[in-house]
Amino acid sequence: MECIFCKIINKQIPADLVYEDDEILAFRDIHPIAPVHLLIIPKAHIETIDDLEDGHQLLIGRMILVAKNLARDFKTAEGGYKLLIRVKKHGGQEVDHIHLHLIGGAPLEEIIRSI
Ligand code: 5GP
Ligand code: ZN
Repeated sequence: MECIFCKIINKQIPADLVYEDDEILAFRDIHPIAPVHLLIIPKAHIETIDDLEDGHQLLIGRMILVAKNLARDFKTAEGGYKLLIRVKKHGGQEVDHIHLHLIGGAPLEEIIRSI
């Protein structure tokens, strides 16, 4: 298994974990772009949002709820934050295992600009 996030799930490589349950893991991004930058991932190896099926509905909903709770824990709920999922090449996805970025802790520059 070459997937770096599966290796984090399997504890083959270290990460700064901030949340774990049966289905979901969250840890600090290794190259943070804001004071709070966490990645929330499913433990199941699903490569991209494009690979989701109807049966994943609850899992994806739970990932967003985990993000909401972590935003509170990390004191960025009141000020606000961004949730971001990149999808495939044009979306800039670099790790082929679905991950929800939670980015906050300070006012954020807009990542997406008008064309
Ligand atoms: P993407 O560009 O695919 O949306 O985001 C991938 C994110 O994973 C990047 O922000 C990158 O810093 C992070 N990342 C890549 N490899 C590792 C790693 O080994 N450990 C951690 N904690 N984060 C990683
Ligand atoms: Zn994986």
